[in-house]
Amino acid sequence: VTERLYYNDSYLRRFEAAILDVADEGKRVYLDRTAFYPNSGGQPSDRGTLNGVAVLDVIDEEDRIAHVLERPLPSLATVAGEIDWARRFDHAQQHSGQHLLSAVFHRDFGLATVSFHLGSEASTIDLATGSIDADTLAQAERAANAIVFENRPLGVSYEESPGDLRKESQRSGTLRIISIADLDRSACGGTHVKSTGEIGPILVRKTEKIRNTIRLEFLCGMRAVEQARRDYDGLVRAAQVFSSSLADVPEMVASMQSRLVESEKARKKLGLEVATMRGKQRYSETAPGEDGLRRLRLDVPAIEEEARAEAQSFVAGSKAVMLMVASASPSLLLAVSADSGLLAGKQLGDLLKAAGGRGGGSAQVGQGSVPDREALERIAKALGF
Ligand SMILES: [Zn+2]
Repeated sequence: VTERLYYNDSYLRRFEAAILDVADEGKRVYLDRTAFYPNSGGQPSDRGTLNGVAVLDVIDEEDRIAHVLERPLPSLATVAGEIDWARRFDHAQQHSGQHLLSAVFHRDFGLATVSFHLGSEASTIDLATGSIDADTLAQAERAANAIVFENRPLGVSYEESPGDLRKESQRSGTLRIISIADLDRSACGGTHVKSTGEIGPILVRKTEKIRNTIRLEFLCGMRAVEQARRDYDGLVRAAQVFSSSLADVPEMVASMQSRLVESEKARKKLGLEVATMRGKQRYSETAPGEDGLRRLRLDVPAIEEEARAEAQSFVAGSKAVMLMVASASPSLLLAVSADSGLLAGKQLGDLLKAAGGRGGGSAQVGQGSVPDREALERIAKALGF
């Protein structure tokens, strides 16, 4: 059995212990006692060293705790362990912050926390509700931070069938209870700070609906400060682009967005007008052939609305045939005037099918695509271009 030193002192950074057992060619070590927190209850495991060898993972095997090492320890009876304190303290801040936040949601809004995950970037709690509004989130954040400022003590106690827990525990026997003075009692095996002040600022972030719960992201301590800094820096960059104050950025973005939509509409209208004029001009510049038809092939980057408008304008004149070829994404458009004696959709459709492509269209306009450029040229040739 491994004695869990972190249970009673989550501030213990260095310890000595005896090796009870090793496995995996000396890379998995079991000790009589450890300050290393194993992966459990939504909180990731500690890192650190045993006799200077890096601990890569710490695994809870119920009675024993396994320390997974980077390389085998030289065979020694005792080891000196040291945990990565920055990581431990950060985890204690996030985990204690979670207890506080969950307690506030429970106390003020009757919302239970069904699960908790402490991530490397952000942490989340799943609240037992189908929806939550921004006002509730802001109120909970404010109330939780007020309790941070009150610097209330967090306590650890061991109790047989304890009552008055925020969430009933599925475990029986002696339970480890983490309490926040005059607020919360929860059964938990995690590492916690001594008082709410050490949690530091609590920042509630985005929410997401996951089945019947709302997953809420939050940051505590330095994570909250660093995120606020990143948010600020981003907002400053946006404000510089708009030459506006930070407070005016959302309004500037909204007004830019609607102006963009308007100008895009206007640009599109102009583009179609220009294409129509170009089609007309090309018609007048194209001399009729021996059969009296004005035939024009145009190679275009893509067959889009403007290209179609140009082709339609070209064949609005009498005795006209236009073939548009886009070789980048091999496709064709055939437009013919009503008096050309041709059926564009049918004629092009048949050629496309024979070339392994697809498409079709009306009597006056046919359009389609083929697998490659070779097929494109075969069809163009078959159409006399
Ligand atoms: Zn906990």
